[in-house]
Amino acid sequence: MKKICVYCGSSPGRRPEYLAATEALAEELVRRDIGLVYGGAGIGIMGAMADAVVARGGHVTGIIPHALANREVVHSGLNELRVVGSMHERKALMEDVSDGFIALPGGLGTLEELFEILTWSQLGFHRKPCGLLNVAGYYDGLIRFLDHTVAEELVADQYRKMLLQAEDPAQLLTQMENYQAPAMDERLSKSAR
Ligand code: AMP
Repeated sequence: MKKICVYCGSSPGRRPEYLAATEALAEELVRRDIGLVYGGAGIGIMGAMADAVVARGGHVTGIIPHALANREVVHSGLNELRVVGSMHERKALMEDVSDGFIALPGGLGTLEELFEILTWSQLGFHRKPCGLLNVAGYYDGLIRFLDHTVAEELVADQYRKMLLQAEDPAQLLTQMENYQAPAMDERLSKSAR
């Protein structure tokens, strides 16, 4: 993996652990020579994530739509900033340039991005690993709910297992490196997106 896309909150959240997790993840990314791809903002957990990678000499690509460039205060210290026309272009470009995806704690935007990339994997548009970094139990309720979707036979177990999870960034990245996408029928290709 050369580049990992990190989805995370544009708010800092209530617990210091959420911001602190960016340091541990950045440390591990830089140690493995993996660049960061993210939403380009300088605020909240997003800004802290970029700061932590830049501070360690790592490479950061920010991808932000025009319309959000002021609202989310573009980070000024990135190696590369791509300003795109829409939210959809942002997510498509993030997928295209990244070899895997991680969600740190975040709000509706983070959840939307995580679930979209998982559904793209389910449909076979990509075969890249997706991981949840469950900082301070933030995602415990979501993990329980996803297990419930399998128990209720609305999500197949093989697709549930596409979402890797760990509390520790090194463990998560190792799982991602060893990830094998589930076999699935090839009805849909990238052109169907
Ligand atoms: P949040 O997790 O809501 O704090 O937002 C984190 C990031 O997700 C921010 O960069 C938002 O611009 C972005 N975001 C919010 N809504 C969406 C959406 N519908 N699609 C893609 N990204 C979004």
